[in-house]
Amino acid sequence: MTQVVLFENEEHKNILLEDHSEGEMVPANQHLIIHKGKGMLLDPGGHKIHSQVYSDLSAELSPNDLKYIFFSHQDPDIVAAANFWFMMTPADGLISELWLRFVAHFGVDRMVFHRIKTIPDRGQYLDLEGVQLSILPAHFLHSAGNFQVYDPISKILYSGDLGASIGVGYRIVEDFESHIKAIEGFHRRYMPTIRVYQLWAKMARKLDIETIAPQHGAVYQGKEIVNQFIDWVENQPCGLDVMEDYYDLP
Ligand code: FE
Repeated sequence: MTQVVLFENEEHKNILLEDHSEGEMVPANQHLIIHKGKGMLLDPGGHKIHSQVYSDLSAELSPNDLKYIFFSHQDPDIVAAANFWFMMTPADGLISELWLRFVAHFGVDRMVFHRIKTIPDRGQYLDLEGVQLSILPAHFLHSAGNFQVYDPISKILYSGDLGASIGVGYRIVEDFESHIKAIEGFHRRYMPTIRVYQLWAKMARKLDIETIAPQHGAVYQGKEIVNQFIDWVENQPCGLDVMEDYYDLP
């Protein structure tokens, strides 16, 4: 699927890059934020796609102007090609402090390892050429050390695995009710308990969100669809809520 410009003005651009996943790979979105010519790449993906993502990125931004690579959590569809990105760009990486030494297992060269910065559990602000991006705590959605990014200019919330859909042929959610079938299985099994959805929904309602952009599948655009998703997810029992009786011998 082709790339989608989610937001654009004279000095700011948010791009959902083309989806290059194929075969057995879980399809994953790579997002790029550009502000005044400097960039941040979110969840860059694994080895099979890194050269295509790199060339797509290069069409928008000189790789030398990539300042940050954000890793929402430690899954291989996010961090597997970290070494490539540190070798090919001057960007710093950002990941939960829980996962720093796990990323090293994907083979991050000693020369560049120091460029991976850890995000404290409570999150932080991050300056991208004058815009303050919020790195928001979203732990246990689904990873134990997990963050989302809120961009106050585009009003996009980059939600990582939250809101993820698999196997949809569209890039923008047009009708939330019919989209539910593409998200309910994932949100029931990969997430730990409804309590975290409730806490997240409370946080999300404090933000002015125009778009929720997950790491997999279609994007929720417009306040109506965004609010439909928030209202839906905070009422979804999941994980331990529905699996307590699995804790028995088979
Ligand atoms: Fe994940």
